Amino acid sequence: MLTRFAPSPTGELHLGHAYSAVLAYNAARDAGGKFRIRIDDIDGSRSREEYVGASLADLAWLGIDWDGDPVRQSARLDDYAAALGKLRARGLVYPCFCTRADIAASLSAPHGPPNGPAGAIYPGTCRGLSETERTRRLVDEPHCWRLDTARALAESGGLQWEEAGQGLRSADPAAHGDIVLARKDAPASYHLASTLDDAMMGVTHVIRGADLIASTDVHRLLQSLLDLPTPLYRHHALVCGADGKRLAKRDAAASLASLRAAGIDGRALAADLAADRLPAGYSLQNP
Ligand code: GLU
Repeated sequence: MLTRFAPSPTGELHLGHAYSAVLAYNAARDAGGKFRIRIDDIDGSRSREEYVGASLADLAWLGIDWDGDPVRQSARLDDYAAALGKLRARGLVYPCFCTRADIAASLSAPHGPPNGPAGAIYPGTCRGLSETERTRRLVDEPHCWRLDTARALAESGGLQWEEAGQGLRSADPAAHGDIVLARKDAPASYHLASTLDDAMMGVTHVIRGADLIASTDVHRLLQSLLDLPTPLYRHHALVCGADGKRLAKRDAAASLASLRAAGIDGRALAADLAADRLPAGYSLQNP
């Protein structure tokens, strides 16, 4: 068994991250397996180096250690580009030149597309551009790369994954529309990078928050297209604050740094979290 914890260094870790890390760490250690860290720092404009060090220090405080060096997404851009190139050669991705304003305008049209699990789905404006127009506009127009999801699905057929405690679940990538695989400002989207990394790192069990369960629809399709193994998944309940909302990086009171500064024992906290016992005022909820 190999599990991982994959923080984005865009803020301080909070109790929700601790819960996720403890579950993944204990699952691996209890099975005599390995536990690795991945730093999701692909978004260069939002990632800060200081949060990488702070996150690793928080994990150590919880009594968590890890195998090997943390994997940095920012060091894996060539792999992401190679995978995108393969999909491009198969005609499964296309460049999209739409600005946010273009997309907003077509979504507000009377018969705009329905919402997907992650909000509005892309109306497909650039899917039908001719090769000539693409080639001309690629020269100097900012663009992202989108998956032609319908075409990709035609190559993949029905897709499923094994969800802990639930058995087989069907993936529904079509509900997401033509998702972005490489962005104007970042060479790979979370979906592409995370799917490739989990395979490269040999992750056998993806243990992460239930907020990401819909993403697994897309990850499962990418695994199929790129010939990658499908790990087992466990999407766990989310830690919520007194207001019943899931914690966000701006909830300073729940940050691990502030709990540590308040003299809380990190290892005792990790043991409590492993038993689903949360500090007063916090609860676990399934979205
Ligand atoms: N970096 C992601 C996050 O902080 C986690 C991604 C994953 O576990 O797949 O939400």
